[in-house]
Amino acid sequence: MVLEFLNNGVPWTAEDRIQKRGLIIATITLISIVASLTITYLVLLFTGYEKQPIIFIIAVLAPLLIAPATTWSIISLMVEIQNLEEAYRLLATNDDLTGLLRRGTFLTQCQWVANLCDRNKQTLAFAILDLDRFKTVNDRYGHGGGDEVLKAFADILRRSIRAGDLAGRLGGEEFALALPGSSLDDACQVLERIRAETAKCNIRYLHHIIHINVSAGLTCASGNQLHDIDAMIRRADDLLYHAKNRGRNRIESGPLAAIQP
Ligand code: GH3
Ligand code: MG
Ligand code: MG
Repeated sequence: MVLEFLNNGVPWTAEDRIQKRGLIIATITLISIVASLTITYLVLLFTGYEKQPIIFIIAVLAPLLIAPATTWSIISLMVEIQNLEEAYRLLATNDDLTGLLRRGTFLTQCQWVANLCDRNKQTLAFAILDLDRFKTVNDRYGHGGGDEVLKAFADILRRSIRAGDLAGRLGGEEFALALPGSSLDDACQVLERIRAETAKCNIRYLHHIIHINVSAGLTCASGNQLHDIDAMIRRADDLLYHAKNRGRNRIESGPLAAIQP
């Protein structure tokens, strides 16, 4: 909190912390020296003691020796607390294997983004992606191999989306994307790129190279439809089911049907 206040409310990066630690220590030491000198001067003034230089030297030396060490340990403690807070926050909101948003966080943020899209008269493209025959990867290479595939796929998703888009792991080998401001055609291109990149990706695990494909169901919502995330999930799921039935390693897309009154 104090550290954020010192940075205009913006959380510090690790680099900031190291760079600015020195600046804070110097500032606090300087303030301590000025305060010590002022107090000493006032005490001497009011008590009428002789203003000997040695008294002022001590008034400078004392804070000069104590302030840096004390400030250093206090800041180190605060930085450690902030790092721990960040780690816990990340654990609560992000999946620890892939680093993508957890299902609950993804859906909550998706609703916020959808509301924003409605206010800005924008569309929201929504996709559910599922790795093909993932069980076979686990069977052939073990759970470690499967986990490596999940991490590699999450990296492809991260690389393929823009700032402001959302990517989450819904569970197992099922992922979701929300692309605010994207039309169905725009999103189709993004999904097709993800599909192609996944198909050509060589995932290294021990001495193996694993290949995987992905299928996805993609839909797009606008206006009133943006208030029903469940309907987007159902439609994307339905399209994903078709993609699986039509041979996998493919994207099926379609608009969200109008909500029945
Ligand atoms: P389909 O093409 O129809 O999607 O087939 P599939 O094999 O991908 O689907 P299925 O639902 O039969 O298998 C999903 C597998 O995902 C089964 C489960 O063991 C595995 N799985 C779920 N979560 C994890 C995980 O965190 N790590 C690993 N390695 N495997 C997981
Ligand atoms: Mg699957
Ligand atoms: Mg699945």
